[in-house]
Amino acid sequence: MAKKRGKRHSGQSDTTRARKPKPLSPRPESDQPPSSAAWARSVMRHAKRESPVDTAALASCAAAGIVTVQPGEALDLAAIDANADGGLDKEASKQALLVEHGRIQALQERLYAEHRRSLLVVLQAIDTGGKDGTIRSVFEGVNPQGCRVWSFKVPSAEERDHDFLWRYHAKVPGRGMIGVFNRSHYEDVLVVRVKSLEPEGVWRPRYDLINDFERMLTLSGVTVLKFFLHISKDEQKERLEARIADPEKHWKFDAADLVERQSWDAYQGAFTDALSRCSTSHAPWHVVPANRKWYRNLLVARTIANTLEAMDPRYPDAQPGIAELTVPD
Ligand code: ADP
Repeated sequence: MAKKRGKRHSGQSDTTRARKPKPLSPRPESDQPPSSAAWARSVMRHAKRESPVDTAALASCAAAGIVTVQPGEALDLAAIDANADGGLDKEASKQALLVEHGRIQALQERLYAEHRRSLLVVLQAIDTGGKDGTIRSVFEGVNPQGCRVWSFKVPSAEERDHDFLWRYHAKVPGRGMIGVFNRSHYEDVLVVRVKSLEPEGVWRPRYDLINDFERMLTLSGVTVLKFFLHISKDEQKERLEARIADPEKHWKFDAADLVERQSWDAYQGAFTDALSRCSTSHAPWHVVPANRKWYRNLLVARTIANTLEAMDPRYPDAQPGIAELTVPD
């Protein structure tokens, strides 16, 4: 017969009980400064674990020139001028972009140091819409340690064996990080719908699932910032022709893009539905006029900088006693 173990919690040995650490006080009673290790443990104990996104503070972060889709609004993409330039010229836009770079770099450092929240930037566009160029331009100078870019392609066999959000969820930025999705979970209601890769009964419920997913993220401290880069059909033609004409752009050319172009209207319809159904107060869609690359870059950068500013990341408070710490020889 097994011995009775009294009131002790099963699995808890005498050794683990004896080793239970004493609670640390931020400042030891003695005049000795705290050891660096004790100080670091105290910082970790005080770190806040959950911090929902303040959606009200983020509502007005879109740069002037961007069209933010209001929740419940039936978007009319064709009515948005992809050629808009806000009255700026290329040189003025480039100068203004430098200012936004400075803001993003400084705020990103704070976000990283604060280590409480994160920013997820989602980029969607039709082929040649400028996702790669936007990332290259907007994140210039950002500390690569605090920023990661994920490009989502045709799902692998392993990814297809899971629910459609699985591969995206795994790449959501952790605390302190900026994550960029070059294509995203929206592909599962865009290309999947246009090319009938799944029956309607599979893709249609995904709008609600995406909204729930993004709401869950915002409740966990992830600010979700979604940009649709809006180009015209004529602009796509010019960009494809440039890729064919310039040997240095040949690597970017994919004959499949010519086939996809034939589905232009179907893609515009799928974008319209996705942006209308998935623009919520916690994660609205921002439509960026994107024919002029320099204007597009400025609008995206400024909106990211405004958003980071509204998040107001702060360096953690200095722990009591830090000034008296000495570094051993
Ligand atoms: P990009 O055009 O983004 O520079 P690629 O030329 O490699 O990169 O294209 C990626 C391809 O992956 C696109 O054709 C896109 O439609 C496809 N894709 C992305 N996500 C999915 C998905 N969930 N299901 C099917 N196809 C997808």
